[in-house]
Parts: sequence; structure tokens; C-alpha cells
Amino acid sequence: MTMPVFRFAPSPNGHLHVGHALSALLNARAAIALEGRFLVRVEDIDQTRCTSQLEEEMFEDLAWLGVPLDEPVLRQSENFSHYRSALEKLQDMGVVYPAYLTRAEIKRFVSSFEERGQAWPRDPDGAPVYPGDDAVLSDEERKKRADSDAPFALRLDMKAALQKLGKQLTWKEVGAEGKALFERSRQIPVDAATWGDVVLARKDTPTSYHLSVVVDDARQGITDVLRGLDLYHATSVHRVLQELLGLPEPLYRHHRLILGEDGRKLSKSNQDTSLRSLRQGGLTHVQLRKMIGL
Ligand code: GLU
Repeated sequence: MTMPVFRFAPSPNGHLHVGHALSALLNARAAIALEGRFLVRVEDIDQTRCTSQLEEEMFEDLAWLGVPLDEPVLRQSENFSHYRSALEKLQDMGVVYPAYLTRAEIKRFVSSFEERGQAWPRDPDGAPVYPGDDAVLSDEERKKRADSDAPFALRLDMKAALQKLGKQLTWKEVGAEGKALFERSRQIPVDAATWGDVVLARKDTPTSYHLSVVVDDARQGITDVLRGLDLYHATSVHRVLQELLGLPEPLYRHHRLILGEDGRKLSKSNQDTSLRSLRQGGLTHVQLRKMIGL
């Protein structure tokens, strides 16, 4: 049997909150229980919002939490060439296209559609599925944008990708806590069509969350992806990309979410639940563990 390798993959675009603490602690516990390793990946592809100061503070929070980390740390901003080659591989397969619609144009198109009483499909995160440039722009306008310096996103042609794979994909899901860690995996059918044509890169950024996560899980030799249930459905996209790129399939473990008092997902902008402010307010890490049900 290979040694399990877990990872915690936060973005230093704000302070870690109690939800991140749960994720980091569950990964650390699972790595210990299964005699594996526990790596950190800094997901800092958004260079406008991620800062080295926030990254430093993130490591301070992790040290305070007392999670034992293994080396090396992978920093996505230092790995753009790897995402670029994965993207080129997908382009060579003919499953990537440049998409020129702006956010405002997508919004306008979807509202005009919905005003007529028809529902426009939404992805599992609630965002409208990309309508395709030809649904909105004239041939002439599309050509004009392609020939100009207009911004674009490189999107996965999901239909073409699924056709190329030509089989029903699945992923293996296992429990994230306690005894469930040791259970047998369940096969979950992949439903990537509901995501539509996801963004893989942009004109000025050679990658996106979906692309870099699969490339890095493979590069770091991650065998067990343990993350929040908010990313459960994203696993379908990740499995499609893994199959297209010939990357190994890790086991997936999705953990419960800690919701705010309003019943919503916690956000990095809410200072009340940031580990930093709780710590500065005198909370101990033992009290924190109790607070998040560990
Ligand atoms: N960077 C993502 C986040 O902070 C996590 C990515 C993952 O675990 O796949 O939500």
C-alpha cells in the first residue's frame, strides 16, 4: 500500500477562519490516523488579492492551531509553467476555446432569457452556465474581438470533453472524520455537464482553480483530498480534467461545513470568525477545537 498523502490548500487572500481550522485539523488528524503525510499548498494564483503578509499570518495561525506540517510547501504562483503545459495539452486535444463574453454580457443575456419566463441552467454553485459566444454575439462581433486585444477566458468545451472521454466517470468518496475515515469508498457518478464550459485560464492568468488543483494534487502525490462539502460538486470537474490529462485519481473526503449565525458559509471578510481575532481575544486552541466539534 502507498503511504497516504493529505493536503490543506488555503488561499492567502484573507485571514483563515474557523472553517479553515476544521479543514486543517481534520487533514492533520487523518494523516496521523492513516500514518500518512500532510502537506500545505498555498493557492495564490490571484496575485492581486493574495499577499505574502497574509501568507505569513496564515502560517502563524496554523502554528497556533498546532497542526504538524510536512515539507515541502507548494506555492501556486511559482508553478505557472506546469499549468501552462497542462492547458496546452488540453488545447491540443481540441477541448478548449477562447470565450469573449464579459460578466455583464452574460448577466444581461441570462436576465433577458429569464424575463421571458424561461429558466436558464445554473451550475452547482448557482452561477449561470456559460451561454456560448454565438448565443450572444454576431459573427462579425466575434471576429472583431478575436482579432483585437479584447480580454478572453479559455473555457473547457465540456460537451466535447465528455464526448472524447466517452464513458461515465465516477469518483471514490470516503468519510472525513472518526471511524468513517476507515470505511470503504463509495462510487459517486460524475455529473460534469451541469457545470457547462468552466474557465481554465484567462488572457492574463494561465490557470484557474479547477486546472491548478488537479495539476497540483498530482504533482504533490496527493492520495486523499479532504476538503469542505462546498467543493463536493467541483469534484466532477476535477475528475474530467484528471482523465483528460492522464492524472491519477485520488480518494475524496468531504467534511461538514461550519456555518455562520446567518446559516451561510463563512467568509474571509468576516473578522468575527477569523482565527486571528479569536486568538487575540484570548481563545485557546483547545477551546477552538471544542467550538468546532473536535
Ligand atoms: N483553495 C480552496 C479554498 O480555499 C481549496 C481548494 C481545495 O481544497 O480543493 O477553498
